[in-house]
Parts: sequence; C-alpha cells; structure tokens
Amino acid sequence: MPANMISITADKLTKSYGAMHAVDHVDTRIEPGELFFLLGPSGCGKTTLLRMIAGLLEPTSGKLLYADKDVTHTPSGQRNCAMVFQNYALWPHMTIRQNVGFGLDAKKVPSPEKKQRVDKVMATVQIDHLAERKPGQLSGGQQQRVALARALVVNPDVLLLDEPLSNLDAKLRVEMRSEIRRICKTTNTTSVYVTHDQEEALSMADRIAVMDHGKIIQCGPPEEVYDRPVNHFVADFLGSANFLPAVVTDSNPDLTTLETDLGPLRASMNGHNKADKVTCMVRPERIRLLDPTEQAANMIDGKHTETVFRGGDVRHSIVLSNGQCLHVTETRKSAHRVTQPDVRIGFEADDLIVLPKDD
Ligand code: ATP
Repeated sequence: MPANMISITADKLTKSYGAMHAVDHVDTRIEPGELFFLLGPSGCGKTTLLRMIAGLLEPTSGKLLYADKDVTHTPSGQRNCAMVFQNYALWPHMTIRQNVGFGLDAKKVPSPEKKQRVDKVMATVQIDHLAERKPGQLSGGQQQRVALARALVVNPDVLLLDEPLSNLDAKLRVEMRSEIRRICKTTNTTSVYVTHDQEEALSMADRIAVMDHGKIIQCGPPEEVYDRPVNHFVADFLGSANFLPAVVTDSNPDLTTLETDLGPLRASMNGHNKADKVTCMVRPERIRLLDPTEQAANMIDGKHTETVFRGGDVRHSIVLSNGQCLHVTETRKSAHRVTQPDVRIGFEADDLIVLPKDD
C-alpha cells in the first residue's frame, strides 16, 4: 500500500532551545517497512524527534533523509508522511467515510479512485461497517482505527504515531497493540511510534530506541534491549530489575567473577577488567526461590518479607544481609508458598548482567 518502502536516516539531528538540547546529535537509521519505537521518560525528546521526522519542527542542526533524499528543510506537506495523534483529531460533523477520504480530497484524487482507496483502507483497519456513522457514535478504539485509516489512505511512505493509545482504557490498549502492529506490517509502511509505555514498545516494536536527555542510549530489537541493557538507565526503564554494586575479581572470555557485600557472584559475560567497579543486574523473573536440595551458579540467603498477588504472577520481597530488598517474580503456577522467613534464592550466570557502575 505505501508509495515506496523507504528508510529514514537521522544524521547528528539536533533541536536546541537556547542552551538545552531537546534532541542531541541523534544518529539512527530506520529500515524500510520497520516498526520503530522511540521510548523514554517524559521530556527525553521523543516527540521533538518525531516532529522533526514529520517536518513539523525545523532542526537546529544535522540532517534528515527519507531514503537517499535530504528532507531536512522540506516542509511537512511536501514529505509523503502521515501522522496519528493521541486525540485522533477527527472531524465531528463528517461521517467516517468522509473523515477517511479527507486527505484524498485535498490531493484532488478522482471520485472512483477515492472510493476504491477508502473502501480498501477501511477494510484493512476493519471499520467498513461503520462508514456512515459520525465519530461521536464510535468507541475510543473505533475512533483510533478511523484515525489510522485516515493516515494510511494517502499511501504515506512514513507513518508517525504519537502515543496513539494513551486515551484508551487498559484492556483496549492491549488489543489495539496487536491491531496497529498488524496494520503497519500488512501495509509495509515505515512507521515511527512514540511511547513512554515500555510494555507497548516491547510487545509491538521491530526495534526500540531508548532515549534519555535528547540522546538515543540504546537501539535494538525488544529482546536485546530487555535482556542486554547497556546501562542502569535502560535496565531500569524496561521492566523491573534488581541492582547490586560489585567489583570484578576475575574476567575470562566466558565468565566474570565478582565480589559483592553478599559474597561472590558469577556472570557469563565479559568485557570488564579485573578491579573494575560495576553494577550487577538480575531481572526478578530470572531468580528462583531454591528448595533445600537445589543448586544455582549464584546463591544468596535472605529473609522473605512479603508476597504480593498480581493476577498472572506473584512478587516476593526478600531482604538480604546488607539490608537491600530484592524482588523475585514467579508465575502463579510455579509460585512457592513461603512458610518461613529464611529463604535461599538462586540464579544462573547467564542471568547476571554486568553494567558500568552507576554515576
Ligand atoms: P513527553 O513524553 O512528556 O511528551 P517527550 O519525550 O516527548 O516528553 P519532548 O516533548 O520532545 O519530550 O521535549 C523534550 C524537551 O524539550 C523537554 O525538556 C521540553 O520541556 C523541551 N521543549 C519542548 N518543546 C519546547 C519549546 N518549544 N521550547 C522550549 N523547550 C521545549
């Protein structure tokens, strides 16, 4: 459906307001047809970067390419991109069919072709049965589909989505995640999606760029940024994490040994030198409550303080001998019923991630 499957390249793209860099020398390449996420906390520069890609904001410096074409200073209307906003921005007095076809009127597309394109895109986003209704007669999820259809009907090379699900309730948000991904993938449109919701990014993205203070800190497929975060910020932003300060005592190609105030630990990754001060990270779901006969590469004793029921899983809190509280999650099916406070937890060397020391 898109006119062309194109890449987007940012080359040292910067937007400054006085001395503050809202987007700070961002270098990245978004592949043709990719569903690419900009993820980060409020104020990290996601929307500013998206608006520069859309042509709604002029960069202070750097370059932006659509495929090989320099569009840094090309006005938005002359780029073949379409944007979906948080608030849908539908025309309340027009029918859904008229709303969807609006962008084609502006382009003076002849009526028979317009009808065919509107019908096709309404079928893709599954709103064909709502064609004659007005936006006020639709649910939030249906309105979001209309907003998507209206963006896609112009066959954009680039689809830009700015927190498109934030006005929906939690259940619908989860349903619409799969829908938006399906639609982006069936239309093969290069799409850039802004969110601060890590679950949304992890469940939908081909790749995620995690941003902080105007910079891309890490960019990769969801599994990679979740399993191999490059620093404390990324590890903490994407899901839950337990952190322990440590010093490297030995480093081989396959095994790093570390000293902590809880005793020695082992990690099956390298890249650090003896005596380096580091931060170790282990995800709560990678830790097990050990039965008395069970062994693990890393074992720590602690006191169980509480178990919180969370629907599909449970979270145990364990206080260690240094006073730190560590979290362990277990699925309901595998959850231990803890009957006494003294427990031993364990995790494998593969699950211990060694990060640069926190600043
Ligand atoms: P949110 O998730 O809250 O929308 P964001 O990651 O999208 O945040 P941006 O809206 O891109 O963040 O803003 C990045 C930084 O630039 C923020 O510190 C913001 O205050 C600042 N900023 C944005 N627009 C302007 C402006 N017009 N003038 C001055 N500062 C601005």
